[in-house]
Amino acid sequence: MPPAAAPAATTTTRALMVHSGVVGAVTLPVPALQPGQVRVAMRLASPCGCVKDAIASNVSPSRATALGHEGVGTIEAIGRGGDAAAADGTLLAPGMRIVWGRACPCRQCGGCTQGTGCRRPIALGVDMAPDDCAFAGSIVTRALLPRAAVIAVVPPSVPDPVAVPAGCAVATVCAVMESAGSLVGKRVLVIGAGMQGLVAVAMAAEEGAGSVTIVEPDPQRRLRALEFGADAALEPGAGFGRADVIVDVSGGDGALADAMDALAHGGVLVLGRAGRNRRPLTVDAGLLAARAVTVRGAPPVSGRHVLAALDFLAATHAARDWGSLLAPPIALDQVGSTLPYAEGRHARALVAFGSSPGASAGQSAV
Ligand SMILES: [Zn+2]
Ligand SMILES: [Zn+2]
Repeated sequence: MPPAAAPAATTTTRALMVHSGVVGAVTLPVPALQPGQVRVAMRLASPCGCVKDAIASNVSPSRATALGHEGVGTIEAIGRGGDAAAADGTLLAPGMRIVWGRACPCRQCGGCTQGTGCRRPIALGVDMAPDDCAFAGSIVTRALLPRAAVIAVVPPSVPDPVAVPAGCAVATVCAVMESAGSLVGKRVLVIGAGMQGLVAVAMAAEEGAGSVTIVEPDPQRRLRALEFGADAALEPGAGFGRADVIVDVSGGDGALADAMDALAHGGVLVLGRAGRNRRPLTVDAGLLAARAVTVRGAPPVSGRHVLAALDFLAATHAARDWGSLLAPPIALDQVGSTLPYAEGRHARALVAFGSSPGASAGQSAV
């Protein structure tokens, strides 16, 4: 067997980190690969809302963590002594393009040991990370993924920009829509037209919903939702028609309270992930009882959701221009103390990395 191409200590990454409330790119040595760990040369990445929330609530500044979990990269190396597998069982190898899920099982809780699902997953790229997850961010030239990371291989038909949001926004909506049940013929109301809302609108339309209405305060976002499958776009507070299913992926901006009255008899309300600023929701118990309404959360995002996210993007990107939702890419070193977030027509800012960020590293397993 040939010797390793380069000593692990010489491999570096340039990573966007928040430390003591300051955001910036720093160059750090990448730790030696442990068995089954996956080192990834990043191609594109995007700061999702989780990153924004993590920076705003940087309550534990004593540990730095590489930021982000939306992105696509190419496997550069896999630690010797252990296989690495994707969520569908595919054995991973250098050269594969991958995305990974936001939630990484802890492998220690009762749910993990009993195989019933992790009860306290680590949110890669946003949580103050244990040591083996500190480099598992996406806004980095090189990411180092723990063995427990939920990884999915990007099909050749899916371009990089289309794959970028799979690991967080699209996978999260897959979980939310799973909780909503069948949408065939249903009147669906989606609250919030950020990236998750656009995905929800498109999923409802693709599944055969009877109608899809978006509720969103921003007029540009309302227009965009119409392009991605909504039949109608309304401002919060507008008079809503009856809905069989309401999906709230707004992060809690207050429109939900107005929409509750729109739930039809037997209707279902699914609450997506709560943003930092979610307002308390007052529920009219009489209305729930009289209309037999169900209020649900979404299941934790797991491997099947990340796989479903890539399937959805692969199946729809020819007809729905997911790449158009990304802002023109900027380089990591253009990211200053304030992270770029999407504005106007775009749903995501985009950070691009050099075409050969792995130039100094071996392309085989080490
Ligand atoms: Zn996220
Ligand atoms: Zn666990």
